[in-house]
Amino acid sequence: MHEAFAAVAAEADHLTQLDSAIGDGDHGVNLTRGFRAVEQALADQDGTPPGKQLILAGKTLVSTVGGASGPLWGTALRRAGRALGDAATLDGPALAGALEASLAGVVELGAAEPGDKTMVDALGPAVEALRTAVDGGSSLADAIAAATDAAAAGARSTVPMQARKGRASYLGERSMGHEDPGAASTTLIVAALGRAITAGD
Ligand code: ADP
Ligand code: MG
Repeated sequence: MHEAFAAVAAEADHLTQLDSAIGDGDHGVNLTRGFRAVEQALADQDGTPPGKQLILAGKTLVSTVGGASGPLWGTALRRAGRALGDAATLDGPALAGALEASLAGVVELGAAEPGDKTMVDALGPAVEALRTAVDGGSSLADAIAAATDAAAAGARSTVPMQARKGRASYLGERSMGHEDPGAASTTLIVAALGRAITAGD
């Protein structure tokens, strides 16, 4: 969560630029506010199992971010936390299961399908790549690297898409030719997860 906060804060202007093109220009501000609150909420939670910390992080995002990304990322983190349960550590299969639960939660809440030009177009390929790598016996570091690459490719793939969910969908065909801000921030967050995992090795 610390890495995620650092990454969205560092890229806040870029995310806001992306959201200005096809939304209302608050995505960088939204996520920075949310993940800063998460970092504060977790400051005294060092001994708490990761799953419980993720549930608290998700609740914090929902209560601090008014935009679409608050409930969506809040659900993603809470579902991941629930999937991890009380485990003190997590391995590849546990992480893959947690991210699959996150994706399922986001899809349940937002009803976006692949190709709708949303965060699902980055998170979906990331989760799939992680699962494939883990099942194929890759190390956790290699698996998360594959997930990060897949998220980045997924985010790039949103450029030509026409948005069918969220504010960008109001623009119709004029949403084409721009990267989806939520897909871009999802790539940052997956990459941040990778840095956290690699640092913990
Ligand atoms: P808002 O659109 O309320 O201003 P943000 O700017 O924080 O919220 O987030 C916008 C991002 O949220 C979009 O770029 C998109 O990736 C994501 N998003 C919006 N609606 C949905 C949805 N129904 N399902 C999945 N993701 C969505
Ligand atoms: Mg916005």
